[in-house]
Formats: sequence, C-alpha cells, structure tokens
Amino acid sequence: MLQPVLVGHKSLTDYTHLVGKPLIEEVRQLAGELEGLRVLHLSATAFGGGVAEILYTLVPLMRDVGIETEWQVMLGREEFYNATKILHNALQGNPEGLSPEQWQIFAKYNEMNAKEIEGGWDVIIVHDPQPAAIHQLVPEKARTWIWRCHIDLSTPNPAAIERLVPFVRSYDGAVFHLEQYVPEGLDGTPIHIVPPAIDPLSPKNMAFSPEDAAYVCDQFGIDVDRPMLCQVSRFDPWKDPMGVIDAYHQVAEQMPATQLALVGSMATDDPEGWEFFNQTMAYADGNPDIHIFNNLNNVGAIEVNAFQSQADVMIQKSTREGFGLTVSEALWKARPFIGGDVGGIPLQVEDGETGYLVSSASECAERSVAILEDPDLGKRLGRAGKEHVRQRFLTPRLLRDWLKIFGAKA
Ligand code: UDP
Repeated sequence: MLQPVLVGHKSLTDYTHLVGKPLIEEVRQLAGELEGLRVLHLSATAFGGGVAEILYTLVPLMRDVGIETEWQVMLGREEFYNATKILHNALQGNPEGLSPEQWQIFAKYNEMNAKEIEGGWDVIIVHDPQPAAIHQLVPEKARTWIWRCHIDLSTPNPAAIERLVPFVRSYDGAVFHLEQYVPEGLDGTPIHIVPPAIDPLSPKNMAFSPEDAAYVCDQFGIDVDRPMLCQVSRFDPWKDPMGVIDAYHQVAEQMPATQLALVGSMATDDPEGWEFFNQTMAYADGNPDIHIFNNLNNVGAIEVNAFQSQADVMIQKSTREGFGLTVSEALWKARPFIGGDVGGIPLQVEDGETGYLVSSASECAERSVAILEDPDLGKRLGRAGKEHVRQRFLTPRLLRDWLKIFGAKA
C-alpha cells in the first residue's frame, strides 16, 4: 500500500461568504451527479511546493461534497528524487538530462509503486512527472486516468519531453495551468486548461488584521511605520531576488525610508538553494534595511501571511513562473502587486488594473515609487486584484473544474 496522506476536514459551506452562493450551488449540483465516485490523487510528496499546498485543501473539499477521495504518496528514495529533480528541471528547460541509469531508476520506482496501488478506483489523478509512467503499467486499476501537470512545459529540453509525452498520451485526459504549457504530440488526448487556486481560509491566506500583521512583522525587526516592499519565494535564480534588490536600491534613492523583506523557504537538503541564498545575502551587502528571512527563522504560513498583509508593495519579479501561487496570495490580501511579465503571472495580473507587469528592475522600481507616492492608486489596484482572485483563483472554482472533468468522464 502507498502512503496515505491525512488531511483535516473542510466544509464547502464555509466558503460561501467569500466566493458567493452561485458557485457553491453549481459545485453542489455537479457533485450531486457524482456522489460516491472513488477518486485517488497520487503525488510524489506531501510536503513543500504547490502540489501539496493545493491538495491539502482540494482533497477535504472533494470529500465534503460526497466524492470518496484519497491522497496517496508514492514510495521513493534518494536515487529516485535525484533523478526526478533532474527530470523536473529538464522539463522546465534545463539542458541537463537524465542518464540511461537515471531513466532506469525512474522506471524501477514507477514499477514498484504501480504494483502497490490498490484497484477499483473510478478516477486516478497522477500529479506531475514523477509517477507519470504508472498508468501504462496498471491501467486496470482505475476506470479513468488523468495526468495533472503543475509545471511549465513551454520550452522543455527535447530529450526529456520526448520521453514524457508517450506516457501522458495514454491517459484519458491531461490537465495544464495554461494553453502554452501543453506539449506537442498529445493530439488524441483530451486536454483541460485549469489554473490552480489558493485556499482563502488557510492560515496563509485567512484575514489578518493590520494590527496583528504589524505585530508579527515588528517581531522580525521590520519598522512597521515605514514603507516595506516584499517578495515571498524560494531562493531560486528564476525568482530573481537580486533583481528585487536592484529595484529596491533605486526606490530607496528616491524614498530612503523604504525597507525590503525577502521571505524564502529553504530545504535543508538543497545545496543549490543554500548557495543561492548565500549569494543573495552577499548581494544585500549587509544593508540593514534589506531583511532576508527563511523558514529556519521560523517564517511559516502565518508569518508569510503577515508579511503579505503588511507590505506596501508585494513583488514577484520572476523571470520564469509556472503559475505563481504567491501572486494570488498577495493579491488576495488586497496589496498593490508588481510581477514579472512571464508564465502564469499575466493570467493573474492585468497590467495597470489589478497590479503591474514589469520586465526589468528599473521598471519595477518606477512602479513601486508610483504606488508608494499615491496611496489611492495602491488601494485601487489592491481592491481590483483581490476581486480578480475572488472570481478566478480560489479553491471552490478549482473544485468545480475538477467536478466538470469527472462529469465528462463518468
Ligand atoms: N512559500 C512559503 N514560504 C516561503 C516561500 C514560499 O510558504 O518562505 C510558499 C508560498 O507562499 C507559495 C508556495 O510556497 O504558497 C510557492 O508556490 P509558487 O507557485 O509561488 O512557486 P514555486 O515555489 O512552486 O515555484
């Protein structure tokens, strides 16, 4: 048996005041026709990253509306994770591919896990590339198999995508965040475009009073009476924290009271992450108004929420971004937002309406100054951004989209 993930209970009714009755009723109606459907989510991990973030909310809500939903995590060891990390990076465009031995390891763990899966499911949803080969090995274990992609496949390493596509082609459907992430070669496979969503009632996104947000940020050494720019993201070159520091310097020249907070989680076993973290620290050059935090400073979900709620400008200056849950998280707090014009960010931000899209540090600085100088502008952008997220990027909408996919297959 694979490792089941224990998730708490959630009630769809609690979301009514946030997303409105019509959506809740639509979900209930769709669910009514699917009652008792047995659905298994299969993923590589229950911790860290967007997939886990989403499933901890989606799974309990599916159960709440009558779908018999389980989430199980595949069994793996270091050799498998080393291979799948290379695969993940290659699929997002990194030139390094898997060696023949690493492909063998990939196959070996997929075979091992395929044997362990119980049968009798109506739907198995396989998340991301790590378990993608399982379907071909044991198609009889579910009536319908769907592959859910959480990564950006728009410019993949050709060798890696050529290996992946035949696995995916055999599924009854595949789900991507954006049209441009659908790889070539899936002509016969039903494709669904469904962006992810955030949970407005989770500790990371629930409403925080300005006083409580200020209290938390103050404890981390932020002067809560001075303006603060903030970016929340892993220490990863694609997230461009150094570009944010460049932008900050330009803002501080004009508005010296401004502070910057870079909040980023770190995996203890990710040496590349630590190296980049150290480079970012060096780049900040001891400037006391640049605050750099990671999860080892006890920055967890509540603290991320506090920083996102307190910031005068939230930034996500990525140069590559699959979706960017942090974007919807920031907008949901009605903060004025500036993001890189890449990947999933423009889907969440309409330039000049719900935030700003930028392509350079100086553009980012210019927009930051404009927002800091004009609080009404910030308020207008923040409110519009929040409404956009309410309409499109909260979990009940994601639940509805899944129910529609199930309905089409049932
Ligand atoms: N995150 C966090 N603490 C941090 C940095 C990031 O909890 O210090 C969370 C962030 O709030 C978001 C997720 O990790 O929910 C990152 O998802 P996103 O899609 O933005 O980027 P990814 O890391 O998957 O590329």
